Amino acid sequence: MNMCMIDTHCHLEQDDFVVDLNEVIQRAQEGGICCISSGIAPSDWERTLSISKAASNVYASIGLDPMQSEFTGEMINFIRTHRSEIIAVGEVGLDYYRERDHSQRNLQERNFVSAIHFAIETGLPLQIHSRSAGKRCLEILEKNGASSVHMHAFDGRASFARVASRELDYYFSIPTSVVRSPQKQKLVKALDIERILVETDSPVLSAVRGTRNEPSNLPIAIKEIARILRRDEEEMQQIILENTLNLYRNIASSR
Ligand SMILES: [Zn+2]
Repeated sequence: MNMCMIDTHCHLEQDDFVVDLNEVIQRAQEGGICCISSGIAPSDWERTLSISKAASNVYASIGLDPMQSEFTGEMINFIRTHRSEIIAVGEVGLDYYRERDHSQRNLQERNFVSAIHFAIETGLPLQIHSRSAGKRCLEILEKNGASSVHMHAFDGRASFARVASRELDYYFSIPTSVVRSPQKQKLVKALDIERILVETDSPVLSAVRGTRNEPSNLPIAIKEIARILRRDEEEMQQIILENTLNLYRNIASSR
């Protein structure tokens, strides 16, 4: 089967998919969609690996919700132990929306820096969570010399994303919720077209607020990006695929 779209960020190991995971993966496969599933809690990591082992169109990324960043050492050990089964570090990053306490924010930052250095050392791309902390995340990434960077569902200013995509070559994934988010629509216009990726962030960020999202919905994001940039949808799909394979070379080499 010829895979033609990659959902660069979703969470198939989460409880929302317990009942019908096989059907969800099957629907993605029928739509020509590969997924990168990101386990973001120590209790999820083994499941992320087993799902990706069982499904040829699912790849594993291992990370941490920033609110659990105290487990960064465990995350690093886990990735070292399972290095050949993992294609990215993440999501990791900062969540200033949920964390208001200054000393806890500092802790998130220190752990974020450790994760960045680890990703650089292993050569794995980094998937970044930055909620209400877009500018700070970009500053920390640049200062610490990160290079293979994937900003997921970036909620910061389009002007910061513009600079990061054009000058630092950071990639940004546009979620399916772009159809109902003026902020994400603005982001699409600001980015260097060669740095645009797509994601569903399933089970969340659905095109229809309040409904469960799944990877087979990915074409919704591609169609909306094509509309915003006035490109042919198929051409846009091809550009996004090439962008994705430029960052995720480990997927490219397995195709
Ligand atoms: Zn996510």
